[in-house]
Amino acid sequence: MKQLESKSVVLLHHHLKALRLPTIGAECEKVARRAASDGSDHLTYLLQICELELLERERKAAERRLKDARLPSIKSLESFDFTARPSVNKVLISELARCEFIDRRENVLLVGNPGTGKTHLTIALSAAACARGYRVRFFRVTELLTSLIEARDERTLLGLRARLAKLDLLVLDELGYVPASKVGAELLFDVISTAYERTSLMVTTNLPFESWTEVLGSERLTGATLDRLTHRCQIIETRGESYRLKDAKARIRKPKASGDKAQSAEAAAAPVDPVEGGEVTR
Ligand code: ADP
Ligand code: MG
Repeated sequence: MKQLESKSVVLLHHHLKALRLPTIGAECEKVARRAASDGSDHLTYLLQICELELLERERKAAERRLKDARLPSIKSLESFDFTARPSVNKVLISELARCEFIDRRENVLLVGNPGTGKTHLTIALSAAACARGYRVRFFRVTELLTSLIEARDERTLLGLRARLAKLDLLVLDELGYVPASKVGAELLFDVISTAYERTSLMVTTNLPFESWTEVLGSERLTGATLDRLTHRCQIIETRGESYRLKDAKARIRKPKASGDKAQSAEAAAAPVDPVEGGEVTR
């Protein structure tokens, strides 16, 4: 009897592998023992192991979506200090985290000086979208432009465009730090106009609209880009001083002990990104 049982268990594991049900394979014996001691019927047992398989699949899929989004770091809305950034409406951000804007194919534009939390909010909202089952991809604009230009040179642009078209949310971080070349601006416009009413865009920039021509080159292209981007768009302004700078200044003002003074001054200098520089551009 025992031999027969172990034979059928081996066969069962074989079938479960062929059916690609790894979690049921891993858990079925343990749950069967529990079901026997609880006196659960067969259907309840089947339901329990199917639920385990489904939960594990959802967990893995969410993990994969987060990895595919290529977020540059981990940030959450819980760690965002809204009192330090009163121009940012917490209710609106919580609403955006529910991702209905993605279903409506609307865009989000975050505008503000360097260090004011644009990337932080963008990463947190992207992670929320991944958790809700949306396909997200985060790009710094310079990185996307390099990929687009390379793809064009290698004649793989169609493939890249097809991959972008499959996304639900495309993030373009740091528009405006580096002016795009003529080709770059045209390729970027192509991405933005292809996404129009099909894929939501989330764009961060330190530039007010009137300065976008400096980045995109031609006024015609800037007008057309802004037209598509801002039609059905939530605009979030992160006004005020850089959080990094404020944080650093607070550390200088309140050193833990007198010996910490030099260290605090060092810390004040360190977090200011040389590219972003804390320079006021608006
Ligand atoms: P930006 O993209 O506007 O230049 P970041 O989002 O990169 O700014 O913010 C700079 C740093 O300050 C990051 O480490 C970010 O987590 C932090 N930060 C910015 N604003 C806040 C805030 N309101 N609460 C908590 N951390 C913040
Ligand atoms: Mg940023």
